[in-house]
Amino acid sequence: MSNNFETLAIRSQIERTQYLEHSSPLYLTSSFVFEDAEDMRASFSEEKERNLYSRFSNPNTSEFVDKICKLEGAEDGYAFATGMAAIFSTFSALLNAGDHIVSSRSVFGSTHSLFTKYFPKWNIETSYFKVNEVFKIESLIQSNTKILYAESPTNPGVDIIDLEVLALIAKKHKLLLIIDNCFATPYLQQPIQYGADLVIHSATKLIDGQGRVLGGITVGKKELIREIYLFSRNTGPALSPFNAWVLSKSLETLSVRVDRHCDNALRVAEFLEYHDQVNWVKYPFLKSHPQHEVAKKQMKLGGNIIAFEVKGGIEAGRKFLDRIQMASLSANLGDTRTIVTHPASTTHSKLSEEDRLEVGITDGLVRTSIGLENVEDIIQDLDQALRA
Ligand SMILES: *Cc1c(COP(=O)(O)O)cnc(C)c1O
Repeated sequence: MSNNFETLAIRSQIERTQYLEHSSPLYLTSSFVFEDAEDMRASFSEEKERNLYSRFSNPNTSEFVDKICKLEGAEDGYAFATGMAAIFSTFSALLNAGDHIVSSRSVFGSTHSLFTKYFPKWNIETSYFKVNEVFKIESLIQSNTKILYAESPTNPGVDIIDLEVLALIAKKHKLLLIIDNCFATPYLQQPIQYGADLVIHSATKLIDGQGRVLGGITVGKKELIREIYLFSRNTGPALSPFNAWVLSKSLETLSVRVDRHCDNALRVAEFLEYHDQVNWVKYPFLKSHPQHEVAKKQMKLGGNIIAFEVKGGIEAGRKFLDRIQMASLSANLGDTRTIVTHPASTTHSKLSEEDRLEVGITDGLVRTSIGLENVEDIIQDLDQALRA
């Protein structure tokens, strides 16, 4: 088969059954049967590669894993019920008590909670670097450091971290480089190509892209995935076959959706950049973005998330949200529908002002996930909310 992204996303599928269905069927079955005692023995001892029980594998989850592996250029993978299940299981499978993580300070909120609240229970500590201080990473590495972890673009600041630099550091110090590639999707950026060992996605976001199901996945080096698989088949965070079936279908339209998301987002970012009620706009494919050159190097397009600061601080941010008419106020992102959030008064309200500012969340910061509505309608909605 061709190696072109769009073709792989559509044409890689599990084997057809006797019914010669065109679209992959849904295998809603918790377990699979054995021919006889010998078949059962050989299957359990892994002499045979086959489905036994859907906590281990299922044709629908395998199809989803296979597609993401092809799109990310990965050897193997395992699919999870949510993005957080993927992140938690990946770290838990690979780390021992006493190990150390070096991570970007700007990571998804629940990932930050894992690092600060839960991993310390097992004596796993994390040191943080700021997105614009990758030159400090080496000074954070200790003899027990195992993993270097980052997201790019980051949430909600839309900063970009140079994946090539991270890979060089990881290689030099024999660390595993793990990248949360959720905001970019494999269509815009393939971290394994730059030297990442593992790539994680919340499939809930742009991969589903239609606000329907939760899902997560980790892909990368075969021997690492083996550890993650063994951990997960015992602890049970598996993706449901139904959600896997939905997500495999979603992947067929990923490239066209993300193309349009990015076109719309660039148009909106250009509009906001010259708006008199806006202090600044951050979007990777605007020349004004501090890491614009890195973004151009490692991303095909700029993604669909824009951060901008409304003039007038926290009250102005909240008022802006109240005046929005079409866009949704919702915790999700990467949906067909444009979504607007105000991190300082919602997702990051529990952080001290100092901590918030350190990750770039100023009082007036608004995060928008640009959807697939007509771009003039999106601009009109944001404009009237800014002007009112
Ligand atoms: C949403 C998100 C997650 C968590 O994914 P869930 O599917 O909600 O568990 C992890 N990382 C990033 C960057 C996200 O945006």
